[in-house]
This record gives sequence, structure tokens and C-alpha cells, in this order.
Amino acid sequence: TTPAAPKLRDAVSALPAYVPGRPAVAPDGRPAYKLSSNENPYPPLASVQEVLREAVGSVNRYPDMSAAALVREIAAFHAVPVECVATGTGSVGVLQQVVQATCGPGDEVVFAWRSFEAYPIVVQISGASAVPVPLAADEGHDLDAMLAAVTPRTRLVLLCTPNNPTGTTIATNALARFLAAVPSDVLVVVDEAYTEFVRDADAADGVAAFREHANVAVLRTFSKAYGLAGLRVGYALAAPPVAAALRATAVPFGVSGLAQAAAIASLAARDELLERVEALVAERERVTAALRRQGWTLPDSSANFVWLRLGDRSAEFAAACDAVGVSVRPYGADGVRVTIGEREANDLFVQVAEAWLSR
Ligand code: PMP
Repeated sequence: TTPAAPKLRDAVSALPAYVPGRPAVAPDGRPAYKLSSNENPYPPLASVQEVLREAVGSVNRYPDMSAAALVREIAAFHAVPVECVATGTGSVGVLQQVVQATCGPGDEVVFAWRSFEAYPIVVQISGASAVPVPLAADEGHDLDAMLAAVTPRTRLVLLCTPNNPTGTTIATNALARFLAAVPSDVLVVVDEAYTEFVRDADAADGVAAFREHANVAVLRTFSKAYGLAGLRVGYALAAPPVAAALRATAVPFGVSGLAQAAAIASLAARDELLERVEALVAERERVTAALRRQGWTLPDSSANFVWLRLGDRSAEFAAACDAVGVSVRPYGADGVRVTIGEREANDLFVQVAEAWLSR
């Protein structure tokens, strides 16, 4: 007889996989480009690399568990008290802390769908129930439907603006109406991973909402505009008791000394980094205009990616991109998300899109 296997929680055995963006494969000697993970195509600034080289000498020691210096810089940057800042292992780590701090079995978490694929996974791990609410026809959040989905069991609402993978934003007055109506004992997380890429004056400002509502927490990351995806550092701004709960549920020493040092250096070099963001925004607008000229319909993106609703032809389109050395991100039978990357990579994608329409 075979010995019994270790018992696993049902909620974990049934988890959907988190599918990371595929690496690009170069076709016969030509360059390969990864446009599948919303990464920043620019390498770290020389000043950030210098700080990292220095910090390497201390990796025999545990980092500052409270990330005090980084927390001070984040607090100063947003002009909020340090008590309102909690850091984590990427903003997805902070998201996990949020769910651990607010939810358990029997609780409900409302979020739009399709949105960031980690949402249903971290909710399911906690034992809480995911309540996905379909996006509106314009690919944006349907806040009325999300409000209607809130029940006495709802502990958490996740809003993603700009939304991954559609690039849509929530408007300022739509967020204000939502926050006025949602019960104040429900935590509303505004995930602003791509906020630096927003150029729409109507887009909601999560930090402003956090200043007005004790039940709003904002998630930010150093992975996208700041280009530190590989170092894993993000943070939340939240009311002091909420931020304290997020610190309590964090993995101890989850933000490495390298990550803390690089994040501090990146905040100091913010102006230089934002010039790169400006170039990526210009590329986004160039790509969007080219696709529309070709005849594609796509939502205005406020992030570093564009969204093509290709339905059941999504995998086929991704394969056509693979063939020219560009890896993009198909999402089931919904659509394909393409990160704005190097100009040559964007051009290859635009060429595939053009050829696709004239098949
Ligand atoms: N939120 C959103 C909306 C995202 O798209 C991502 C990255 N894909 C994250 C959070 C997590 O990013 P990180 O953990 O690198 O901060």
C-alpha cells in the first residue's frame, strides 16, 4: 500500500495557475523581444546600479525589516505620515498582505474581471470568495455593478486603475460616487501599478481618495515606471491601523536590502525616470494611432500596454507575434495584451497587426 500523501487545503489544490509572461524566442538569429509582462524596457539608471553594487556588500546581513529609510522617503514623497506607509515584496506582495489582513473563509472580495490575474488567486488562498464583476462594454470598470455586488460579507473591493490588461482608468467622479456609497467598513484598494503612465486629466487619483476616506488604500510599485521589477518592492498607503495590519501580515524581511536601496535611489532619480516614462507614453500613442489607422478598435490605454480584444483568436495572434520574435500575452478567449517596449519591438508588433487584418 502507498502511504497517504500530505493533505492539502482544497482552496489551494483548486488554484488557477499564475501564468507569467513567456520569454521571447528569436527566430533564426534575429533579436527577440519580451512584450508579455509589462516590464520597463530600459535597464536601471547608472546611479541606481551604483547604489546596488554598494548594497551587495551587505547581503550577509538581514535587511532593515521595517524598511525605515525607504518608508521615510515614500512618506515624504506623498506628504503623508510614515504611519500610513507599508512596504512589501512587490505590490503583489502587499496585495497578499491586504487580503490576509482583511479576509478569511466566508468573506467576499469584489473586483472587476478581467483584471490583474493575481486577484482571484490571492483571494482563493485566503479562503475568502472571489466576486468577479464583468467589465463594462468600454472595457472599463462597471462601478454600479460592483457596488451592487457588495454584500454584508464583503470585506474588500479591488479597483485597478489603469486596469491590467485593458489600460482603462476610473474617472474621478465615478470613484467619488463609488466611495460615497460603499460601506465604510469595507476596505477599497486602488491598485495604481501603472499610474505614472496616465495622461488623462479625468482619471481618478487614488492618493487623493486615500486622503479623504479612511477605508481607501492605494497600491504602488517600483516595478513598472521605476523599472525595478526584478527587485520586488511595492507599497501601500493606508490609514494607520490598516497600514499596521499590513506590516503585521508581511513576510519578515520580504523587501531585500538591495530592493530598499534601489527604491530609495529611484525616488531620488524620479525626474530622470519619468523622462523614460514620457518616451514610453509617446510610443504608446504612436502604436495606438497606427493600429487605429489599420482598422483596429482598441480602448485608450493609460498604461504601458495596449489591449486587443481578439476573442477566440487570441492564441493565434500571439503565435503570429512569436513568429517574428515578439512574445505578447494572450488571455484565454478574451484578448491579447501587448506591452509597449523598445521601438523596434513595437514596430514588429504593429507589422504583425497589419498583416493580421489583411489575411
Ligand atoms: N498590480 C497590477 C495591476 C499589476 O499589473 C501588477 C504586475 N503585473 C502588479 C500589481 C504587481 O506588480 P509588482 O508585484 O511587481 O509590484
